[in-house]
Amino acid sequence: MDLVILEAEELYRFYRAGEEETRALRGVSLHVQAGEVIAVSGPSGAGKSTLLACLAGLDDPDGGMVRVDGQRISHRPEAEKAALRARLVGVLFQSGNLIEHLTVGGNVDFVQRLTGRRDVAWQRSILDALGLTKRERAWPSQLSGGEAARAGLAVALANRPALLLADEPTGELDEQTEAPVLRLIREQAGEHTAVVIASHSRAVRRLADRVVELKDGRTL
Ligand code: ADP
Repeated sequence: MDLVILEAEELYRFYRAGEEETRALRGVSLHVQAGEVIAVSGPSGAGKSTLLACLAGLDDPDGGMVRVDGQRISHRPEAEKAALRARLVGVLFQSGNLIEHLTVGGNVDFVQRLTGRRDVAWQRSILDALGLTKRERAWPSQLSGGEAARAGLAVALANRPALLLADEPTGELDEQTEAPVLRLIREQAGEHTAVVIASHSRAVRRLADRVVELKDGRTL
């Protein structure tokens, strides 16, 4: 049986500044099953980041709703959204998701502790799969771009999320460093995770089961 993990229904998101209104999302629906990798592509300003923020419950749509693993994540009190996100959603955004005053290993450990489910064996296995075992004690400021992207992914996967959301996760990487990151994302999908990646990368589009094209806040 196919298990739908992400249900986004008719999302609308408008930004207003004085007389100006930007319609960032205009009725976007997206359903993603466990094991599926979806690439969201489209020109700059198409609404990709806005969509991902709504899917993560980091932003609320002005219309429509988002459900993750059967639970509504949109339009709920902040604390409830944060708890759902910690348990169900791994988020990897361009701005980075590492806490500067914790080491790489400390970051992975910290997000696990947020859910009260610590699993040191799993921490080791993700760091190993991402080639970060030797960098476990490094501080975020000491990492190269590729290492930081991999460490960000380790954090996003720390709680074995039902849904993994990534905004240009390999934007800073060359093809050689991109490959292991994409391999791990694909493997994670195989572990019953639904994956949504906003990206321009050809390698990401190749990896995806489905490519969703976004333009002017609508799917094509
Ligand atoms: P993409 O990620 O595809 O580049 P975005 O989701 O960042 O697109 O932006 C979609 C549209 O919404 C753009 O026109 C952008 O300028 C606008 N936008 C995004 N965030 C804000 C904001 N916080 N305030 C006002 N406009 C915004």
